[in-house]
Amino acid sequence: MSPRKPTNTIDFDTAKLQRLGYTKPAQKPIKPISLAQLRQQLNLRLQTSLEVERIIEMFFNEVQQLIPLNTLSYELSSCDLRFELGERATHCASYHLNHQDQYLGELTFRRSVRFREEELAQLESLLASLVYPLRNALLYRVAVHSALRDPLTETGNRIAMEQALGREIEIARRNLQPLSILMIDIDHFKQINDNHGHGTGDEALKAVAGALKSSLRNVDMVFRIGGEEFLVLLSNTSQEAASMVGERLRQAVMNTQYVVNGEAMTLSISLGCASLQPGESKDSLMHRADCAMYASKRAGRNRLSMAS
Ligand code: GH3
Ligand code: MG
Ligand code: MG
Repeated sequence: MSPRKPTNTIDFDTAKLQRLGYTKPAQKPIKPISLAQLRQQLNLRLQTSLEVERIIEMFFNEVQQLIPLNTLSYELSSCDLRFELGERATHCASYHLNHQDQYLGELTFRRSVRFREEELAQLESLLASLVYPLRNALLYRVAVHSALRDPLTETGNRIAMEQALGREIEIARRNLQPLSILMIDIDHFKQINDNHGHGTGDEALKAVAGALKSSLRNVDMVFRIGGEEFLVLLSNTSQEAASMVGERLRQAVMNTQYVVNGEAMTLSISLGCASLQPGESKDSLMHRADCAMYASKRAGRNRLSMAS
């Protein structure tokens, strides 16, 4: 909550009691019929999406039938959500939305004319229609997110890779942009498991994933696609630039501090780099990167090979 702006906290369980008149006299709405109609309309509309941005946008548009607004901004940093609709204005009313101990984010309404008390009461009444759709959309977002993540390394999983690669190939084709991928496999990984156990192997996997992510600008484009295999998706990146990224990743893994039972260990990766050719399919691109990675293995490991 920003200390500069007035912020109200709405706990919807208490708010409901207040509206029913248990804690304080109910506010008399200035347009009871319109408010009721709008609430009814909102209850129907907001159920039609599970996307947080879309739900907030619908709410913003619908509410303006009763209360003129310039801006609506929404922020929930724990879910990496922050956006603003409309144009900035000076007067604001801010709400922290809570429901059953769950924080659903902060909504800030802005406009050039000061809010009247009646309008704020209406706004608060309308916010009640937002709570369940918003909570459901946030739950859905968490579920989708975890279905696409590898929990061990906190990278994207194979499903996420298939989706992202398909999408990025489409964009690259449409915009005539280059696209490259790096296929990565950890060297002699079986030895780590055999000599130190699977727990240590898992730690090594996390260390490699961490080194890859910290050397890349867009960490969302690292995917664990097999046991000790990763794919890095480089949008709008030529073969030449991709080979430089690959070399940087190879060195980052080599330089990773990794200590087992007080003993310093080194890890290395073998990489294959392929760039999208005109009309090429996703499978063909991956196959060429895979072949290049195996060429790196045959040539002695801890190196990068370019696909032909
Ligand atoms: P190379 O340099 O040729 O890649 O040798 P390598 O030993 O890495 O390759 P290989 O394919 O023979 O072995 C991969 C090993 O990775 C097999 C398996 O024991 C291990 N592995 C796969 N997934 C996991 C995992 O989730 N955790 C752990 N600890 N080990 C895994
Ligand atoms: Mg392997
Ligand atoms: Mg390996």
